[in-house]
Amino acid sequence: MSDRESLLNRFARYVSIDTQSSESSQTYPSTEKQKDLLRVLVSDLAEAGLGDAAMDEWGYVMATLPSNLPPGHPSLGKVPTIGFLAHVDTYHEMSGKDVKPQVHRDYDGGDIVLPGDPSVVIRAAEEPELAACKGMTIITANGTTLLGADDKAGVAEILEALWRLKEDPSRLHGTIRVAFTPDEEVGRGTEHFDVKKFAADFAYTVDGSGVGELEDETFCADSAHVTVTGADVHPGYAKGKMVNAVRVLADLIMALPPDRTPETTEARQGYLHPINVGGNVSEAKAHLLVRDFTEEGLRELESVLQDAADRTGRKYPGSKVAVEIKESYRNMRYVINAHPEVVDYAEEAIRRTGLTPKRTSVRGGTDGSRLSYMGLLTPNLFDGSMNFHGKKEWIPLEWMEKAVETILSVLDVWVQKSAR
Ligand SMILES: [Zn+2]
Repeated sequence: MSDRESLLNRFARYVSIDTQSSESSQTYPSTEKQKDLLRVLVSDLAEAGLGDAAMDEWGYVMATLPSNLPPGHPSLGKVPTIGFLAHVDTYHEMSGKDVKPQVHRDYDGGDIVLPGDPSVVIRAAEEPELAACKGMTIITANGTTLLGADDKAGVAEILEALWRLKEDPSRLHGTIRVAFTPDEEVGRGTEHFDVKKFAADFAYTVDGSGVGELEDETFCADSAHVTVTGADVHPGYAKGKMVNAVRVLADLIMALPPDRTPETTEARQGYLHPINVGGNVSEAKAHLLVRDFTEEGLRELESVLQDAADRTGRKYPGSKVAVEIKESYRNMRYVINAHPEVVDYAEEAIRRTGLTPKRTSVRGGTDGSRLSYMGLLTPNLFDGSMNFHGKKEWIPLEWMEKAVETILSVLDVWVQKSAR
């Protein structure tokens, strides 16, 4: 079987296992079925030569491929341990059960009608990236589920890279650590991740995003909790006495700038996003997300909120409006800047596969941004998946192949640069 077909078969095998995570669950992992795939990965890792592969009580699978640098090699003892991570769970709001991957060989450049529900059509006009994929092998779901390329493409690509190292012992590499993790989609992927035990010096998540992309920036995130205290009085006798916290809070929210919301911002713009309100006449609360790429940007948005709160408080005498800010996570760029080679070498690796690297920023947090702040710098390498989280997910096998090459190439670059 060719390398490409084995990559395809591996990917198809992983997506057919249901690993949907759950936002409402209190357990870890959030769904037990994620372990169905994690167990398969333990044995696939062992088969690829990572004999210590094991799953811990939380479901994290970790494994090591020891360095094969020969005695006297100039990088021996110098090349850092490089980790690769991918998450096994799929998006919590779309079924990942009975996924039937469809392989569209020699893609003709037109619309792709999904056979399980012909009303679901991946339209070339809506997907500008498809134009570059004429003649490629496109993999989709059948229209009734998501595909789960996010992030089983990453899982398959890492394993395929390890398999190729096994088949070609002449490819030299330092020590490699691999981790497959649950619950990324529900924001809990690193909750029990033991960075010390993983013991990599630097790492890469292989997750999401189109061919050639390299993500080294995430949002800075805070959450803001607004509490309005009013004064409750029998409504029949409230004139001049009642201060209705519900009305005060509503007024405050409407006073926030309409051009600083998720609905009205993109690229590098930040936002203030009320996601939850509740309360009664005497007390009402709102929970807002504050997002920007810089801490200065966060501060600015937070002062916009504070000003609005102060003004609203003055407008309703007798009310009290308090704002409390809690830090959620920070742009991983801040910590990666201490070791820019982590990103530079990845860029070099992507270039070596013949692609033009695209540094991009994520309008959100990633497992990698949390790991970076836990002490393990972890930018993200593309896995080639497009349109993830929906039924119209698609991924070209050729892009997956490029991701495998990039992983191998990252290892080469680290070995070569460490020799100096
Ligand atoms: Zn993902």
